[in-house]
Amino acid sequence: MQIIKTIKEMQSLSRRLRVEGKTIGFAPTMGALHEGHLSLVRRSKEENDITVVSIFVNPAQFGPNEDFQKYPRSAEDDLQKLSTLHADAVFMPDNNEMYPEGFSTSINIGAIGEILCGVSRPGHFNGVATIVARLFNTVMPDRAYFGRKDFQQTAVIKKLVRELNFDTDIIVCPTVREPDGLAMSSRNAYLNMEERKSSLILYMALKLGEELILSRGMHDASTVKKEMATLIKTEPLVDIDYIDIVNPRNLDPVQKIMLPAAICLAVKIGNTRLIDNIIVEKS
Ligand code: AMP
Repeated sequence: MQIIKTIKEMQSLSRRLRVEGKTIGFAPTMGALHEGHLSLVRRSKEENDITVVSIFVNPAQFGPNEDFQKYPRSAEDDLQKLSTLHADAVFMPDNNEMYPEGFSTSINIGAIGEILCGVSRPGHFNGVATIVARLFNTVMPDRAYFGRKDFQQTAVIKKLVRELNFDTDIIVCPTVREPDGLAMSSRNAYLNMEERKSSLILYMALKLGEELILSRGMHDASTVKKEMATLIKTEPLVDIDYIDIVNPRNLDPVQKIMLPAAICLAVKIGNTRLIDNIIVEKS
């Protein structure tokens, strides 16, 4: 497994591979790898000749009062996991490499980045779009793998690729959960035992929303959201940021629910912000 620290080196490897006719699959991450990340790597291994993983905690997608400094970093562990999976290359630039002095370009993804998580994280999705564009121009992947857990992010990336003509297919992979239903996330490590217990209410609320729509035929989004909120409020440690039901294609909020629909939510448990979603589809 090759470890690559510079953009130049990564580009020349990708260029060489492409000349050789090899397909490149790419999974961008911020490290602290768990089974959710590894599922992207496995899928890429299945579908491509070469799999590249990036590890970079991107300062531009954190707000001034967010957890950039304390975000979990575990490079050695991550490399061990990736080498066990036989990833071919890991791109691990430092901050200076990605944001040299004077760097000022930013992609504004527009309104899609200002709804849902964008309301409490202004600028976050522009930071994501900018780094992903730079990573794509560095790794030049045929396919890039993203998790459905960050549902709004997948919509932002698809829009970015469509509108800037990136020659990369975006593959969205299912959310990997802990056995009790909590979506895996590097931020779960912040939760103490009590908070971890109360976090189960997220998935319970999503399953309730799904059941209200599919089994009880509820079509009114406000009523479904209200029922979900009532359930979440039974956990005193959990503060709701938002619960929304949107059209999964463009993230437009819906009043009258038609399928497929995406139920998205974000909460705070103590200082930890967690997100999750479920796509409700006809079975
Ligand atoms: P992150 O390191 O949090 O930026 O995530 C890197 C990639 O892994 C993103 O595409 C995430 O959506 C994906 N990912 C994170 N958690 C999960 C999960 N539980 N299941 C599937 N994919 C995930």
